[in-house]
Amino acid sequence: MSSKEEITLIGAGLVGSLMSIYLGQRGYQVNVYEKLPDIRKTTIPAGRSINLALANRGIRALEQVGIIDKVNELLIPMKGRMLHDVNGELTLQPYGRKPEEVIYSVSRAGLVSLLRDEAESTGNVTFCFEQGLTDIDPDNKTFSIKHTQTNNIQTLDYDILLGADGAGSQTRQVLEKLGVDGFSSELLEHSYKELTIPAGTADAPFQIEKEALHIWPRGGYMLIALPNLDGSFTVTLFMPNEGPVSFEAFKSKEEVEAFFKEQFSDVLELIPSLAQDYFNNPTGILGTVRSKNWSYKDILLFGDASHAIVPFHGQGMNCGFEDCSELHRLLNQYSDDWSPVMQAFADARKDNANAIADMALENYIEMRDSVRDPKFQLKKQIAFK
Ligand code: FAD
Repeated sequence: MSSKEEITLIGAGLVGSLMSIYLGQRGYQVNVYEKLPDIRKTTIPAGRSINLALANRGIRALEQVGIIDKVNELLIPMKGRMLHDVNGELTLQPYGRKPEEVIYSVSRAGLVSLLRDEAESTGNVTFCFEQGLTDIDPDNKTFSIKHTQTNNIQTLDYDILLGADGAGSQTRQVLEKLGVDGFSSELLEHSYKELTIPAGTADAPFQIEKEALHIWPRGGYMLIALPNLDGSFTVTLFMPNEGPVSFEAFKSKEEVEAFFKEQFSDVLELIPSLAQDYFNNPTGILGTVRSKNWSYKDILLFGDASHAIVPFHGQGMNCGFEDCSELHRLLNQYSDDWSPVMQAFADARKDNANAIADMALENYIEMRDSVRDPKFQLKKQIAFK
């Protein structure tokens, strides 16, 4: 074990934290650098993707590292898509015929905290928070880290550097600057904003059906809601950036409320802080990142850093978790020889990543087009799965 390379992992998001468990369990010494403070010790900023849909490909990885029993405590099963039409009529489209064919709502902060705890409990993983990657010198095998509190920059050596620093990956940007080509980032002309349906009463904490992924499909825009354990729902509004119905269009509380009254009337009364959330919560951008080269010298990209996708299939994290299990499989196959592993990993994952990126974009277009005819919208399968 002691002859194994030391792993430098950039980004302690969902995917980086899970990979650090795999690597810690394999006996690697792993140092994880994360530019944000530790979410286990700070409050979560409002309006930043509070929950996600966890599906089979993600669950398999959590089972493989032996933590699924603990993860289960964080999950709410969602049996199907609950479609809300403009009159408030509901249609449940089950995800499968069998009761076990469900996907799950999970808290992002809860899951990432558990993953970090489990990584630390391997005894081989050290998280370094508030330390963001700024640069890499692949020839001298050094990387630079900026301490976000002091702005001090430290340059350190690495053996293997793994970039799991998300859609805006600094690792990827450094590779681009070094002349590695084949990266593309494409922004969607729609963005998103998170709102909240608070928990109801102690007797009836869930104000709408608990075990469903709620969708209000409306053509050029839509609303979705996923349940949280405390009875609240995280609601996400997807809308164009520009145009008559868009994030730039609504300037006042009255305009936002009138829009919801017309289009999402059954949910309006359930979001008491609608205007406050709408104007205070950030508007998040959405996009697709594709990479031809996932590795360069001893550097490897994975997760959103190499293949960020739009969220209309709810598969970004699931796909990143599958990256981790694939990397683990290849480390077994090549007896921890990283050089062939890196190439084989990219070869194994690239087509899958491109396929799910295309499907997510297609699904977004399909969801918009399928609802032009209001009658059609309830018959058409909306596949947020
Ligand atoms: P991230 O989660 O982005 O983590 C990257 C980490 O790197 C962050 O902690 C960041 O702070 C850190 N970092 C960034 N730069 C640096 C640096 N320079 N140095 C050090 N650290 C750095 N996926 C699903 O599977 N199901 C869903 O239901 C779903 N819903 C979504 C809804 C929305 C609105 C959005 C936007 C995404 C959704 N996704 C979903 C996608 C999912 O969020 C991502 O695929 C997932 O978070 C990717 O994980 P990651 O660890 O690769 O990247």
